[in-house]
Amino acid sequence: MVEKLEKIKSEALKAINDCLNEVDLNNIKSKYMGKKSEFTEIMAGMAKLLQEEKKNVGIKSNEVRTAISEALDERLKSIKAESLNKKLEQDKIDISLPSKKVRMGTRHPLTIVREEIEDLFISMGYDVVDGPEIETDNYAFEMLNLPKSHPARDAQDSFYITEEMLLRPHTSPVQIRSMLANEEKKPFKLICPGKTYRRDDDDATHSHQFSQIEGLVVGENISLSDLKGTLEVFARKMFGRSREIRFRSSFFPFTEPSYEVDVSCFNCDSKGCNICKGTGWIEILGCGMVHPNVLENCGFDHTKYQGFAFGVGIERVASLKYGVNNIRDYFTNDYRFLSNFDRKEM
Ligand SMILES: [Zn+2]
Repeated sequence: MVEKLEKIKSEALKAINDCLNEVDLNNIKSKYMGKKSEFTEIMAGMAKLLQEEKKNVGIKSNEVRTAISEALDERLKSIKAESLNKKLEQDKIDISLPSKKVRMGTRHPLTIVREEIEDLFISMGYDVVDGPEIETDNYAFEMLNLPKSHPARDAQDSFYITEEMLLRPHTSPVQIRSMLANEEKKPFKLICPGKTYRRDDDDATHSHQFSQIEGLVVGENISLSDLKGTLEVFARKMFGRSREIRFRSSFFPFTEPSYEVDVSCFNCDSKGCNICKGTGWIEILGCGMVHPNVLENCGFDHTKYQGFAFGVGIERVASLKYGVNNIRDYFTNDYRFLSNFDRKEM
C-alpha cells in the first residue's frame, strides 16, 4: 500500500508540473485527491489494516497529501502569474510612440518686415506713432491738400462709413494728427506703420487691405538730399549694401516736388531679370517734400520749416525680400506659408 501511495504521489506531482491552466489543475486535484480517487479509496480501506501497517500507511498518506496539495498550490500560483504576465503583454501600451507635436506660432512675415523697418528708423531717432484706422475725411484728405473735388481722390476714397468717416486709405492722417498735437511746432521725425484700405480689386499684387509705413520729417533746412540719404539707408538695409536708388518725378497732392523711388535690382544686380522686368530697377515707394499747404494746415510756418515724407507698402517690401508672388498669401492664415519666415522658437 505504501508503494501504491508513492506511485500516486509521483504521478500526481508529474501531472501538476506539466499542467498549463487552472481548469486542468482542478481536474488533476479531483483525479488524485477527490472522493472517487485511488487515494480516498486507500484511506477508506485503512480501517481493515493491521495496527503496524495502519501506522505506516497513515504516515505515508499524510506525506502524500501534503506533497500533492503543496504542489497544487504552488502550481496554481505560477499559472496565475503566467496568465497575468500574458495579459499585460497583450494589453501593453507602447509608450515609445511619438506624441502629437504642439505647434508653436511664428511671427507673421509682415510683422517681421515692419519691425525691421521700425528698428532702422528708431536707430535714426524717429518716433513710431500709431493712429485710428477709422478716420475723418478731413484728416484723411482735406488736411493733406486733397479737397473733396480733387481728382486724385478717385484712386483712394473708398470704404466710407458715413459721409465724413472712412477706413483710412493711407497712414498719412497719423502725420496730420501728430503735427496738430505738436503745440510748440517743434521739429520732429516720425514713422507711422499700420493697416490701410483702398478700393483695389483683389489679385496677386493688389489687395483692398494692406499695410504701410509712412515717414515724416519736419525741421529747418530740410532738403531733398536729406530725403535721398534717408531712403538710401533704408534701401540698403532692406535689400543689400550695394543697392542704389533713383528718383523719378511723380505727383502726390501732399508733396511738392514728388517722386517715385526705384531700387537697383537685388536679384540680377541691375542686369535685367523677371523681378525687375528687365529694367534693372524695382519701384519701392513714393515720396516728396511736404507741400507748404500741408505744413500751414497743421500750423507750421512754411517759410521757416520744410519737411519730407515717404510711404512704403510693407507687403511690397516683404514680397521682394521673400519672393512672395501672391499678396493674398499674407492674409489667408495658412500655417504652411507662415511657418517659412520665422523659425525662431517663440
Ligand atoms: Zn533684376
